[in-house]
Amino acid sequence: MNLALWLERVAAVAGERPALFRGETCVADYAAFQRAAAGVAEGLSARGIAPGDRVALFMKNVPDYLIALYGIWIAGAAAVPINAKLHPREAQVILQDTQARAVFATDGLAEGLADIVDTPIFGMDTLFEMAAGEPREIAPRAADDLAWLFFTSGTTGRPKGVIITHGMLSTMSLSYLADVDEVSPEDGAYYMAPMSHGAGLYALVHVLKGARHICPPSGGFDTGELLAAARAQGPLHMFMAPTMVRRITDAAKAAGDRAQGIKTVVYGGGPMYVSDIEEAVDWFGPKFVQIYGQGECPMSISALSRAEVADRVHPDWHDRLASVGRAQSVVEVAIGDAEGNPVAPGDVGEIMVRGHTVMPGYWQNPEATAKTIQNGWLMTGDMGFLDTHGYLTLRDRSKDVIISGGTNVYPREVEEALLTHPEVREVSVVGRPSAEWGEDIVAFVVADGVDEAALDAHVLAQIARFKRPKAYFFTDELPKNNYGKVLKTELRERLKEMDA
Ligand code: AMP
Repeated sequence: MNLALWLERVAAVAGERPALFRGETCVADYAAFQRAAAGVAEGLSARGIAPGDRVALFMKNVPDYLIALYGIWIAGAAAVPINAKLHPREAQVILQDTQARAVFATDGLAEGLADIVDTPIFGMDTLFEMAAGEPREIAPRAADDLAWLFFTSGTTGRPKGVIITHGMLSTMSLSYLADVDEVSPEDGAYYMAPMSHGAGLYALVHVLKGARHICPPSGGFDTGELLAAARAQGPLHMFMAPTMVRRITDAAKAAGDRAQGIKTVVYGGGPMYVSDIEEAVDWFGPKFVQIYGQGECPMSISALSRAEVADRVHPDWHDRLASVGRAQSVVEVAIGDAEGNPVAPGDVGEIMVRGHTVMPGYWQNPEATAKTIQNGWLMTGDMGFLDTHGYLTLRDRSKDVIISGGTNVYPREVEEALLTHPEVREVSVVGRPSAEWGEDIVAFVVADGVDEAALDAHVLAQIARFKRPKAYFFTDELPKNNYGKVLKTELRERLKEMDA
């Protein structure tokens, strides 16, 4: 089933419903949205793009993103969403790797590509021209046909393209309704995080339910803009990385604004520290749902519902808050040892997933696929454990685990301990090669007016002595990738340079 059918069906019964917004301005109802996307499909076909071809999107968060995306699908082609924050040279690598037949690019980004790629670039003028043209019928697509090539955020190495099919995305969207949140036509999906990633994947369920799609004029995350939008345009739904939750909590508290217009914040994509989510729920109320996923199983490995996040009376509430919830309905989750054999509840191992939303493999990369899909299981590279009730708690990426004196130390645990210090704003813990211990634990800290001795005492009051950092490095900010994930590889590089 072609995912674009959902758009066609909503347009057929509720075409007058407001669909696409730039800030507070409605730029298309569902009938106009469908009509424009079908026009884009015809424009693509007229330019020789056939079902199965790849068409890239190098676009900021604008309402036209969804017109281009659905236009690509109606034509039967596959979308290659590229993070708008990437350098044009990085975008070029993705265009080459996917043999994209064309790329839609917003103003500013198109110019950067023009000199370095042969791929035809469709600027916004071309997109509008296509959108106004004759509409095209939806091309039939099978469940295992490619819909979206997802480039992993790549905190290490060169990004890989994940094959995401129409079947995976429809199942992911239904799993959202089963495990994450309900969606009603009055809701507005508010796009602050890049639409090339999770935020954009969530557009689908909002199309299915005929909800509004709102792109902030800034195209990104601006706390003042979000609080104003919540007042004027709620109920709003949004995806946030943990750092965004931290920032909106600070901003809303400073403004004395409880942001009633925010209905749901889905958070994930990186570790959420318990103290941060507690504070956010204290201030905003039960609006937070956590999901755990990765490009290889988009948005759909596990979920911790709003009730579970907010249920303070439950005896296990605190442990559950530190978990990433339970397996979503459409997947199986297991923990494996180094050979992939199941381990006992409570034991830490690699998180393995199988089910309807797991990728068939990486784009034209059989070696990487063979390493990642083993005996039908997706080996996530994340370490964690399951409790007897099925709650999954993440430790760290397997490559981030520190082995010091033969013992595994999970950086997250040390980070959680440091973050409970009131002066510590951000922290990242990594291993530093050590002749004596194999690795030493060291912490990079963003903090005001606190010294090493105070942090050391604070950590020792909470966790075992062998887990305490041997060294602290104070820094103004932590290096992060375009999705806000801390680049531990870069911190390890810094350590190497210091040693040299
Ligand atoms: P990506 O494929 O770029 O979306 O990155 C996925 C990775 O982000 C996962 O493998 C995890 O390491 C991390 N991640 C995603 N969701 C969560 C979460 N809720 N808590 C902690 N880490 C997460």
